[in-house]
Amino acid sequence: KQFLAGLAVLAGTSPVALMAQDDIEGQIDALLAEMTLEEKVGQLTQYSSFWDATGPAPQGGEQEEKFEQVREGRVGSMLNVVGRDEVRAVQELAVEDSRLGIPLIFGYDVVHGHKTIFPIPLAESASWDIDLIEQSARIAAVEAAAQGLNWTFAPMVDISRDPRWGRVMEGAGEDPYLGARIAVARVKGFQGDDLSADDTIAATIKHLAGYGFAEGGRDYNTADFGTVTLHNVILPPFKAAVEEADVRTAMNSFNILNGVPATGDAYLQRDLLKEAWGFDGFIVSDWASGREMIDHGFAAGPRDAAELAIEAGSDMDMESYIYRDHLAGLVESGAVDMAIVDDAVRRVLRVKHELGLFKDPYRYVDDPDQEDILMSPDHRAVALDVAKNSIVLLKNKASLLPLKGGEKVALIGALAADKDTPLGNWRAAGETGTAVSVVEGFEAAGVSFTYREGAAVEVGEAGFPQPVVVNTTDRSGFDAAVAAARKADKVVLVLGEDGLQSGEGRSRSDIGLPGVQQELLEAVHAANPETVLVVMSGRPLILDWADANVPAIVQAWHLGHESGHAITSVLTGDHNPGGKLPMSFPRSVGQIPVYYNYMMTGRPGPLENEVFWSHYNDLPNTPLYAFGHGLSYTGFNYSGLEITQGGRSVTVSVTLENTGDVAGTEVAQLYLRDPVASVVRPVRELKGFEKVMLEPGESTLVTFELTDAELGFYDPYGNFKVENGDFEVYVGGSSAADLGGSFTWSSN
Ligand code: BGC
Repeated sequence: KQFLAGLAVLAGTSPVALMAQDDIEGQIDALLAEMTLEEKVGQLTQYSSFWDATGPAPQGGEQEEKFEQVREGRVGSMLNVVGRDEVRAVQELAVEDSRLGIPLIFGYDVVHGHKTIFPIPLAESASWDIDLIEQSARIAAVEAAAQGLNWTFAPMVDISRDPRWGRVMEGAGEDPYLGARIAVARVKGFQGDDLSADDTIAATIKHLAGYGFAEGGRDYNTADFGTVTLHNVILPPFKAAVEEADVRTAMNSFNILNGVPATGDAYLQRDLLKEAWGFDGFIVSDWASGREMIDHGFAAGPRDAAELAIEAGSDMDMESYIYRDHLAGLVESGAVDMAIVDDAVRRVLRVKHELGLFKDPYRYVDDPDQEDILMSPDHRAVALDVAKNSIVLLKNKASLLPLKGGEKVALIGALAADKDTPLGNWRAAGETGTAVSVVEGFEAAGVSFTYREGAAVEVGEAGFPQPVVVNTTDRSGFDAAVAAARKADKVVLVLGEDGLQSGEGRSRSDIGLPGVQQELLEAVHAANPETVLVVMSGRPLILDWADANVPAIVQAWHLGHESGHAITSVLTGDHNPGGKLPMSFPRSVGQIPVYYNYMMTGRPGPLENEVFWSHYNDLPNTPLYAFGHGLSYTGFNYSGLEITQGGRSVTVSVTLENTGDVAGTEVAQLYLRDPVASVVRPVRELKGFEKVMLEPGESTLVTFELTDAELGFYDPYGNFKVENGDFEVYVGGSSAADLGGSFTWSSN
């Protein structure tokens, strides 16, 4: 250490700069030896700036106080600092003014695009297009890096079965297999091939774990589920992101599971993530989740919370100040072993090294042309492609869609003209009101139409986390809308949720069309039954009335900047929709949770007329639209399922044919069932899918390979098991696929 310091003096440079060489662990050893306990704690402390995308908004004294601590080497990371100049200014405080000059790592919620906004993650997941999803994350990273960021708190990989939970918009839906594939794609997209390149950023898998199982879908609520669900449903996307994409950071969660707040859960963070899965990046707490352990009734006070969190493996504290205020004292008193702190610091320094921040702390903010790529035409083109592929055609009776040339269209609904809602929640640095609206999409495509607002989607005061309430009283636009509908050949009615109505803190107990929109739908449909309903939402909505009455329904989510162009291209038939639902759509809120991979009861049925022993008196057990469902303007036929076994694998093949007269894409899905096992297995589980484009009349052979990884499952203790016996497979275009076969698996 003295040698290094001496060399540094001779070379007229800081010890840190000298260490910026290739033996990362050796350099970390040397630096750790140099650091005071306070400086170590600093690396584990993360502060938020209150700068937002629109420019600096310092919070007076509090902000200044935080910057002073950066100068003192008592901060390791900042979040919410955006913009090259802003990042540079804060990085200079750390690098030029602090004793050791350790660079900060700058984090931000880059969730679905940074400046160029892509569809919300749930929508992207409906594309089932792994390459496109990776590209979307890649572009988000390129743009975020161009604004000085080196770390995103994404992807959120929480599985959820509850559309009342506002954060379903941010995830990949209800299925662990699809969720794992998407988690891997998004991490690879953010992190690229080489983390030290200047356009790649570290990713975060979050929230470890069970946050998506908040009871009643109420955000931040208690989660309660068994360990079979934990290991088989909740954890697979996390594990895949570690093992297949080497994700560099993870975030714990606000909820308790098994009575322990996730931030204080050593089993999840140490035993599983770090030990069993070999994760060598670092864990950041969720916002103040360390301190929240006090309110949960788990920690006696902040000092206790700090001890519990660091012992459990939560390495960096986001905004709860418990490490800043108590960690040094805990080490000095002998309550916490220095080795635990050193390990946490090592993990943080490791990721900073990998990002190349020690070699050049300004590497993300150096090049004056860097920002030229923001919102580039290339990025917009990919955003359009992803948006088109995210749209799901839920219903299309008598081929009402696509619109035919020459038809007079009444375009109705405030959301059709809305340039903000399509950006959705968690829109990073995307600027308010900049999406292409459906009105603009129609104009650009030369569709002949009349526009009527119908019902304003006036949003009440929506400061976070206050509820977003849309117009529940103003029906003054109904008459004009109904009149326009009467005169038109067809109606396109765009209804749904405001862009901020889903997301964090945006749980809803009634997930029908908000405000007076259901009434508008009924009035317009009565005036002209040739009505196409386009739904913009951040979650599955209850569409039972629409399904029973309206001939065509298009699920258009919140699709980002290119929303209007994408929706128009689907409505006109320019793009043949191929999206498939990543989450079941319930018939009513009372059915929730309704999901496809449920367990059989001891009273299966059906008795008669689809009535099961376990049933509601007033509803079928099935969802309105099943997981994996999505139509096309062409038809697809599955036939000739064949199963061949060899060695340690089973190959399932089917012939898929485009039976219609336009080209189209289909997502062929394979579901597996293990009818008898030592742990009851779901009635079916997705274990493979392939997205195929077929010309009219064209057919192709689609093959799926099943190995131990697909055939096995986790027991309640987290042991992975593959058991001999019979299996059933089903292949088709949704989780209701009925083309089936079976095989017997034997490990000998
Ligand atoms: C959210 C995280 C997010 C963090 C920072 C928290 O409230 O739960 O997902 O990354 O804020 O913005």
